This record gives sequence, C-alpha cells and structure tokens, in this order.
Amino acid sequence: MSVTIPFPTTSPQRIAHLSAISHERIEPQSHGVFECTLTTVTPLCLKSHFAHVRLELPGNPPHAYLPGSSIRGAVRAMTEALGGGCARYFAPPPLPPRAVRTCDENGICPCCRIFGFAAERDTFAWASKVHFQDSDVAPVVWQKYPVPPFGGDPAAPGQGSGWLTFRHLPAPAHGARGEDCVDMGAVFPFRVRHHNLTPAELALFYHALTLGGLHHILGFGKRCGLGACKIEVTNPPSPVPNFAPHICVQAWTAIQQERA
Ligand SMILES: [Zn+2]
Repeated sequence: MSVTIPFPTTSPQRIAHLSAISHERIEPQSHGVFECTLTTVTPLCLKSHFAHVRLELPGNPPHAYLPGSSIRGAVRAMTEALGGGCARYFAPPPLPPRAVRTCDENGICPCCRIFGFAAERDTFAWASKVHFQDSDVAPVVWQKYPVPPFGGDPAAPGQGSGWLTFRHLPAPAHGARGEDCVDMGAVFPFRVRHHNLTPAELALFYHALTLGGLHHILGFGKRCGLGACKIEVTNPPSPVPNFAPHICVQAWTAIQQERA
C-alpha cells in the first residue's frame, strides 16, 4: 500500500552553486566505488526490462541483471525524503510547501547536489556526483505474480503533503498467470561510482543507499508487496559516517515504520 512521508517544515543545507563542491574535477573529497549487492526480499517486477532480459539471456539455469537506473531511482527517492530534498519531481496538485520548493543555482538542495539535474526551467544544470552501473548478471528463479493496474489501492492519507512511498508488505502468492518476476532471494552485485561528495553528502547518500538494513522498494507492484530489496555495501567507508545530523528525523522515523 502507498503511504505519505511528511514534508519537512524547514529546508536544510541548501548551498549556492558558487560555494558548492562541484563535479568538473576530482577534489580531495570522498571519491571511489562502492561495491554493493542487491538482494530481492520479495519478487521483483521490471516488466519490459525483464521481457528483454529473457530474450537476451536465454538458457538454463536462468540469469538476469538489473538496470542501474532502477536502483538509482529508488535510492534518489529515499535521499529526497531523508535529506530535505526539493520537489523537482513532485507531481502537483497541490503545490508543495515552501520548504521543498524546487531548488535552483542560488540554493541547491542536498539531493540535487548529489544526483544532479537537467536544465528544465532555466539555463542552469548540475551533473550527478553518483553513478549507478547496471548490475552483474546473476542466477535467478522466474515466477509469475499478479500485478494489479496502477492505482489499484486507495490514495494514501495525506497525499500532497509529503513524499509518496510504499509500505513493505509480505509477498503475494505466485500463480500460473501474471508478470514474469525475479523471485525472492536473488543476489545482484553492482557498483556505485561517486566523487566530490562532501562529508555531509556522503553521510546522507550512504544512509539512503543502505537504509540501515531496511528495504528499498523497486519496480511494478509496489502497492501489493512486490519489489522489496535490501542493498548492502561490501566496502563501506571507514568509519561509516554519522548520518544523524544530515537527515530529517521525521522522515527517518516514518521510513523505519514503513520499511521494517
Ligand atoms: Zn533540489
């Protein structure tokens, strides 16, 4: 089911582009490659991608891989909610409150400093400082699961007053009909290249990536229990940065409730 994570009441840590650490050269800040694994906790449905994969990788035992863009989207959504991101990709109505107004070059929000944005409304753009590669090819088990059409459950309470997200639910039963899904228990290694993250950006990004062991939710069928995944990093930063000063406590409390 869908749920709403309330918007913050203040917009922390916005920085003008002239003083923000940028992306055009490697600075003596954090840079490197996180070696990660994504494990499916409930079945994962990436409809057209998996249809393509089943043609591209025939054979037995079956194999599949995940597009980096899917993993990136899930991590960006958590970074927006946790880090006081802006409503750049928020779909009104109603208009989001001032605390999450779309950022610009005079005050770039933490999420947009990390993930970048294209010049959509003006002439200013910012390149991403994190790059998600497609996962490695990994062995999988295909199962069919029913995936209800979009909007199959009631609107989340408080919709429009926060970030739309999804509650982690038990997996539905598989059947003879439905969409081809990668079943639970698949392990996909992947890499995230990062550069020029400030200590605060690294702390926020690393926590949004790993969620302290809680679940991300990817793909189709999020509302009915599909797509729960766990991301683990095999070479964490040392020491693991303290995320507490750099996240919205209210959002983290809500995510802990919804994603356990
Ligand atoms: Zn922004």
